[in-house]
Amino acid sequence: MSYLLRRTEENLFHGKFTTFPDDLVTHAISTRIGGTSDKPFNSLNLALHVGDDAEKVLANRKIFASSLGFKLEDIVTPNQVHGENIFRVEEVHRGRGSQSYDDSIKETDALITNVKNLPLMLCFADCVPIMFVDIENGAVGIAHGGWKGTLKKIAAKTFWAMKENFGTTAENCLVGIGPSIGACCYEVGENVVETCAEIFPNNVDELIIKRDGKNFLDLWAANKIQLMEVGLPAQNIDVAGECTCCNANWYFSYRDARKNNLTETGRIAALIALKGI
Ligand SMILES: [Zn+2]
Repeated sequence: MSYLLRRTEENLFHGKFTTFPDDLVTHAISTRIGGTSDKPFNSLNLALHVGDDAEKVLANRKIFASSLGFKLEDIVTPNQVHGENIFRVEEVHRGRGSQSYDDSIKETDALITNVKNLPLMLCFADCVPIMFVDIENGAVGIAHGGWKGTLKKIAAKTFWAMKENFGTTAENCLVGIGPSIGACCYEVGENVVETCAEIFPNNVDELIIKRDGKNFLDLWAANKIQLMEVGLPAQNIDVAGECTCCNANWYFSYRDARKNNLTETGRIAALIALKGI
């Protein structure tokens, strides 16, 4: 396993892909531990749109950003809509969405950039964080793949966007598929099974796991397969393999919250930035 949780000086935990070169990128996936928010957002909720106290979310974002060497005001984050829009972030966008949801990059589920020290951040509670590093041309990306985004092939499309914008090649692109709901817990309805069969006709038996008359979707495999379809070598794709629902004491999980009759929960975040001056 090349994904691990590293404890920081601030007593946070950073989820790290050890395959990502530390001299080239700063990256981390947060956990729910070490923040200031009260139940059901306890405690490191990093999303402004879920009903938590905004002051607490901003305090949490400050803690998370500074644990990675950034200021809150540096972060760029979008308003995620389970779509397939990909946005190229430039210096002029620095800080968008960092302190106000209204100011976030509109209706976007993936960000890419080749600007150095410009942290891109997306929020998650069971959906898949997919992080990209172009080790040759110096560029990074991050995508949000729930079932909708995954079946719209947002991971593959983010790679294409990096290729178009930065000349990223499949050989030089490293990807990390972060903690998210696993096939152990992710029961889906017939509509998802049908869409999956349309989009992945050759892999549907692998992606839809049947147990006790129910269907479970393997989001990790669906994202890995679409990246391999566009040419990424299997060894370039790292899968954390941690289920957020099974590990709801570590991560925010929408499905786990629902099991406990909670209508809301917090969000973890994945953040990535290119290093350099
Ligand atoms: Zn699970």
